[in-house]
Amino acid sequence: MKIIILTYLTVLSILPAAPLNVVVTLPDLADITRQVGGEQVAVFCIASGREDPHNVPLKPSAITRLAQADLFIQLGLELEHAYAPALVKESRNRKIQQDGPGFLDLSGGVKPLQVPTSVDRKGGDVHPNGNPHYNTDPVYGQMMARGIAAKLGQLRPESASVFKANADKVVALLQGRMAGWQAKLAGKNIKFVSYHADLPYFAARFGLTQVGTIQPKPGIEPGPREIEALAAAMQQHGVKLIVKESFYSERIPNQLAKMTGAKVVNIPILVNGTPAAKDYVSLIDTLVNAFAP
Ligand SMILES: [Zn+2]
Repeated sequence: MKIIILTYLTVLSILPAAPLNVVVTLPDLADITRQVGGEQVAVFCIASGREDPHNVPLKPSAITRLAQADLFIQLGLELEHAYAPALVKESRNRKIQQDGPGFLDLSGGVKPLQVPTSVDRKGGDVHPNGNPHYNTDPVYGQMMARGIAAKLGQLRPESASVFKANADKVVALLQGRMAGWQAKLAGKNIKFVSYHADLPYFAARFGLTQVGTIQPKPGIEPGPREIEALAAAMQQHGVKLIVKESFYSERIPNQLAKMTGAKVVNIPILVNGTPAAKDYVSLIDTLVNAFAP
């Protein structure tokens, strides 16, 4: 009997530990977490990447996965405000509540852009703490990889060096692609309009000029006068490009294109937003190509 127990314990000690259960809000976080965690993580992602990231439909399966999660990861700055806090609370999992060891908000190191001077949620402003779409800046992508590695290392200290080495690979890959992305976009004097204010970090990183958004405020649809005013501004500044995030209707972008002669390009703002954006690096590739085909 003793021998059997000892053998059993020996086998247990050489088996790899069960993967950490990680629930993330967005596919960008899922991709980076899988790259950093490797076989030591089992990742469940709440959003598909194809829907509006501010309003992700609730899946009952998310609650079950959150209840069993060792770690919950969100982009933060209230991007997931409409669904994530309620889901995390509903899971009743102590570990992943905001003050728990398994809660990670990656926005801590972000310098928020477009912080409103006054906020009226009733007015529909969905960016009350500043713009949350920093995932479109690949330098913040590096920060995300390092943040995820540090948290995984806290949860599983014996593998901290493996997670750090994996994050270093993600960082090296993104750094390696940066010069090529910069070269395609730099000095081209690219001016654009997007539907929603989801590209300020991308535009700042690559020196693009955003002349306006179709939504007069984040989350607010425009009226006819606002469309007229935007068309006038586009003509005044010589804007030739309207980027339309894949989950918005093309009606107003097409109307603006007719009014101004600009062209409409469909873009992802998350991994899986379009078929070409199949992982984080190809998301950035796809965005760069939308501005510099
Ligand atoms: Zn937004």
